Amino acid sequence: MLILVANLGSTSFKYRLFRMDEDGGEVVAKGGYERVDDYAAVIDDALATLQRDGVISSPAEIDAVGFKTVLGKNLSGCVIADQAVIDALEGFAAVAPAHNPPYANGIRQFAKSLPKAELVALFETAFYQWTSQASANYAIPKTWRDIGIRRYGFHGASHKFVAERSAELCGREDVAQIARRLYLDGPQSVSGKPFRVISCHLGGSSSVTGILNGVAIGTSMGFSPQSGLPQNNRVGDLDSGAIPYAMRTLGIPLDEAERQLTKESGLLGLSGVSNDIRDVRQAADSGNKDAQLALDCLVHSIRHWIGAFMIELGGIDALVFTAGIGENNPALRAAVCQGLEGFGICADPAKNAACRATECDIASDDSPAAILVIPANEELVLAREVFRKLS
Ligand code: AMP
Repeated sequence: MLILVANLGSTSFKYRLFRMDEDGGEVVAKGGYERVDDYAAVIDDALATLQRDGVISSPAEIDAVGFKTVLGKNLSGCVIADQAVIDALEGFAAVAPAHNPPYANGIRQFAKSLPKAELVALFETAFYQWTSQASANYAIPKTWRDIGIRRYGFHGASHKFVAERSAELCGREDVAQIARRLYLDGPQSVSGKPFRVISCHLGGSSSVTGILNGVAIGTSMGFSPQSGLPQNNRVGDLDSGAIPYAMRTLGIPLDEAERQLTKESGLLGLSGVSNDIRDVRQAADSGNKDAQLALDCLVHSIRHWIGAFMIELGGIDALVFTAGIGENNPALRAAVCQGLEGFGICADPAKNAACRATECDIASDDSPAAILVIPANEELVLAREVFRKLS
């Protein structure tokens, strides 16, 4: 099955074309465009390029297009990208302004350019559709809840991949099978011991998710990707009382407060140095106290959420690190794991130091819990879900 995974940004379009079968898949072509103002033109150009380069003999060969949609109003899951998906994206355009309008437009455009292809949307919120009401709800008035304000969660594709892969690596094929088929069959009970995973997706944008038997029980991100851990330049968790106080005291309007919390906060805001953890670490190592504070706050927040999910899960069988920081930053992993031996999380310093951007278990031989590094590959995750949906 030929599946095109479309990554649509507010001014960009990137794609990867996968050939998928039961055993997995491979990328057969990839490309992208920056500074896009006409999606129709670049999508048609991409299809023409694939044909000209001999990758496909006709665009009609493409069986499906996958969209990693972020947040839909009253809609989630891995679903056929039809008018209901477009309406759901447009219904929450104000909550995800950088993501929802380009995906709504992209789906419309692909429906025109590839009328025979199946279009599939995998919402980033999909992995959290079975979390408890207690975990999903905020303590807000009913009128607020009625307009859709609740904890949705994000990075669903990445955390679901972790749910599958961690079970495979820990020899829990029963759980891996449940996780793989989650969007087809829903949660299933396991006959043996429960399998409890805490997945740390740490990158430009970060979240921690608790996973029981292949299904998310909760996550650090909430209504929007603004909450949870400090992000590269977004604030993460913040007391709602701080916003009116800052607006009144600093004399800034709501738009400016929103801009500062989404563009000038997180690692950048705390460190005053950079939104990239490599620069922040370098500054901290040179004695910059604000940079050190930024790193400490990130580690503190990660551990806060790990602790929360250990209680919810009643223990832990695997702690997982994924995404740019999780895969490449042994110092941060060491800081997260420090002093957790009493909870069964025992990292091996040498294994941790040696592991960069490859799959490995960095736990000591006698650690009760596995500590896994699992490289993220969100495009492949998407291609796999589209393949499963259509097979
Ligand atoms: P992601 O959003 O998963 O692409 O992760 C991006 C972030 O990961 C960057 O902002 C860096 O802070 C971090 N990162 C990426 N590559 C490395 C690396 N080789 N070493 C340390 N940190 C890295």
